[in-house]
Amino acid sequence: MKIYNTLTKQKEEFVPLEEGKVRMYVCGPTVYNFIHIGNARPMIVFDTVRRYFMYKGFEVNYVSNFTDVDDKIIKKAIEEGVDASEISTRYIEECKKDMEGMNVLPATVHPLATEEIGGMLAMIRTLIEKGYAYQAQDGTVYFRTRKFGEYGKLSHKNLDDLQAGHREIKVTGDEKEDELDFVLWKPKKDGEPYWESPWCNGRPGWHIECSVMSKKYLGEQIDIHAGGEDLIFPHHENEIAQSEACNGKEFAKYWMHNAFLNIDNKKMSKSLGNFFTVREISEKYDLQVLRFFMLSAHYRSPLNFSADLMEASRNGLERILTGIGRLKDLEEKAEGSSLAAEEEELSEKVKELVAKYEAAMDDDFNTADAISAIFELVKFANTSVDESSTKALVSETKHAIETLCDVLGIITEKKEELLDAEIEELIAKRKQARKDRNFALADEIRDTLASRGILLEDTREGVKWKRA
Ligand SMILES: [Zn+2]
Repeated sequence: MKIYNTLTKQKEEFVPLEEGKVRMYVCGPTVYNFIHIGNARPMIVFDTVRRYFMYKGFEVNYVSNFTDVDDKIIKKAIEEGVDASEISTRYIEECKKDMEGMNVLPATVHPLATEEIGGMLAMIRTLIEKGYAYQAQDGTVYFRTRKFGEYGKLSHKNLDDLQAGHREIKVTGDEKEDELDFVLWKPKKDGEPYWESPWCNGRPGWHIECSVMSKKYLGEQIDIHAGGEDLIFPHHENEIAQSEACNGKEFAKYWMHNAFLNIDNKKMSKSLGNFFTVREISEKYDLQVLRFFMLSAHYRSPLNFSADLMEASRNGLERILTGIGRLKDLEEKAEGSSLAAEEEELSEKVKELVAKYEAAMDDDFNTADAISAIFELVKFANTSVDESSTKALVSETKHAIETLCDVLGIITEKKEELLDAEIEELIAKRKQARKDRNFALADEIRDTLASRGILLEDTREGVKWKRA
């Protein structure tokens, strides 16, 4: 199995630190709003990486944090006049709902930065003791970047180039010994959440959070550290500096980064009006379609989101689900628990396509080619498996497609979940039925909705609904 390692800029054979186990850390979102579809890409991509390791028999310890203390969270809390923790708790819950919709497995652990402050204080203390960090007059603690000789090894930048461009990477505070130094701990401002520390009442810098949470839940050395490519510098570069300076060991063996997601060939931004949350997408599409779309390109290729491409993904997914549905019907009627002689070759073809899929995934998780192999399998099933086939062949083919879809996190059971628009439509129908005094129909619609997990509430302002 080969993985492209950002650290070495090449594909490398995956050798785990511990036989049969994978220790993996994926940087999670800062929770100040609904997640956007740019956040969704690493979630889906690395969930698929995790699932493929599981398929190959690895035990995966998968840790992904929530950054729940941050300027943006504090800003939102001030706007709403509530505690920062209320904002982060709310959007962690919403994020988990979106993850469920995208069929992203919950991490083994989802640590919260605010619950790991003790570990951060300990790591900062060690870095100061070892001479890698220092306290400025106002209580800010900085990392002494030039002291870590390998700084720049992940982003392949050299210190002097960085120094020349220091304006871009400058962080708050004027008391730094060197422009390249970055914040480990900073003093609180009025109205901000804070923790006591030996240096000042304040809060951690962003980078130290991940170094600490990774160490606590996965140990000083891990197999894979992953995230979006925008995190390579400075976030991951700084994590390496902190962790390796503190622990005296190589932090992560493989660094994986997914490429950007563009919208209609433009960078996603609020000002361009092409900014979508996952929740907004879920009102138009089943999130399975979003997942399928995200995996239709290799994770290191930039991906362009457009209505046309989503439509193509919806059709592609539908073709697979219809193929599986047909095999299910055939399976119910078919007989013969072993292959007929003339089916041996067909069975070989199934195995060949499964091997093709695995070869694609073994080559740095090439989900685009893996999906092509699934399409080939579906096409094979549609043309070579029919009423005359034995149950053995039908089941083998169906099982192969289902398993390979499952590794990609694609749910092959036809989803019965209703879209918001469909629910609104049914509610309108029910309203009309009541107007027509057709209470039997009104009740029937209510029951139908209830059976699909939609609860109705008649209020003075009209009917409100929610998902159970
Ligand atoms: Zn991180």
